[in-house]
Amino acid sequence: MKNADRAQQNEARWQAVLRRDGAMDGQFVYGVVTTGVYCRPGCASRVPRRENVRFFDSAAEAEAAGLRACKRCTPGADGERDEMAERMRALCRYLEEHADEAVTLEQLGVRAGLSPEHLQRTFKRIVGVSPKQYAEHLRMERFKSSLQQSSGNVTGAIFDAGYGSLSRLYEKVDTRLGMTPMEYRGGGAGVEISYAAEVTPIGLMMVGATDRGLCFVQFGENAEVLLGELRTQYPKALVHAMAEPAPAAFREWMAGLNEYLAGRKPDLRLPVHVRATAFQLMVWNHLQRIPAGQVESYGEVAEAIGQPRAARAVARACASNSVALAIPCHRVIRGTGEMGGYRWGTGRKRALLDLERRG
Ligand SMILES: [Zn+2]
Repeated sequence: MKNADRAQQNEARWQAVLRRDGAMDGQFVYGVVTTGVYCRPGCASRVPRRENVRFFDSAAEAEAAGLRACKRCTPGADGERDEMAERMRALCRYLEEHADEAVTLEQLGVRAGLSPEHLQRTFKRIVGVSPKQYAEHLRMERFKSSLQQSSGNVTGAIFDAGYGSLSRLYEKVDTRLGMTPMEYRGGGAGVEISYAAEVTPIGLMMVGATDRGLCFVQFGENAEVLLGELRTQYPKALVHAMAEPAPAAFREWMAGLNEYLAGRKPDLRLPVHVRATAFQLMVWNHLQRIPAGQVESYGEVAEAIGQPRAARAVARACASNSVALAIPCHRVIRGTGEMGGYRWGTGRKRALLDLERRG
């Protein structure tokens, strides 16, 4: 690396240290020559003086330079953690290959060299769900893909996926927000979606709806790109521009969104009809219960849906929400009180929260 590049990299790393950027963990460590200790970029200890700081690409390099690992952020533990994560990944692959068998915790424990209890905890911590939930998720995915591929009926697909009974599956899929298994077949085949675009105070908004509710509310620069998104999400649905005049229900939903964006109706409650996994539905259902103007952290949402270790999966579910406002993923922020990401930009997230707090 050229000196100029190195200087630039060091400056970027220093900025990461200043903002205690946990996302940079694993990218580098920094050593403090006056204390002889090295830390992760996200370490919560006092920020040292710039002139005393040296950067290293890895913990091993810092150790080689004679520094010792900080007790607070334990930067040397990466290897151990990675190794455990690799074992859990191997188990995930194993579960994928044996999705039609009932694999016990004991069997998995033997494969990973852990007791069943230890395995259960570790798997949940790293993967975000228990091995049993993971296996259920796999069956669900298989069920959905067999629905999409087969021209056969839904019942056949259910038995192919290893579900014992029809009702058990419907229990999981057809909740208040979700599309039925029928509607999953072929990516929304048989579902009719009408859309309309409108310029709002926070940019161009495209709204897609079935006769049951909103399935798409997104912001963007141009209508064509947004329409592309809508079609990608529902590849087999019959998608067409909203007829004029629009049905009364659609006009009502549209008016609701506009009222909300004008700050006159902070408490937006509109019917939603989306494709979603069981986990996404759990998260999105909960988001709809967070009162306007209030926020929860990803961790709090995870706690609330009974999966305290699944904060990351909650963040992913928020990021994959395709019905802005009606599923208020903007009310979830980082545990640190920082804004966190938003699919349509943090500027819009901030604007929406401001709007709700004024209202
Ligand atoms: Zn530290």
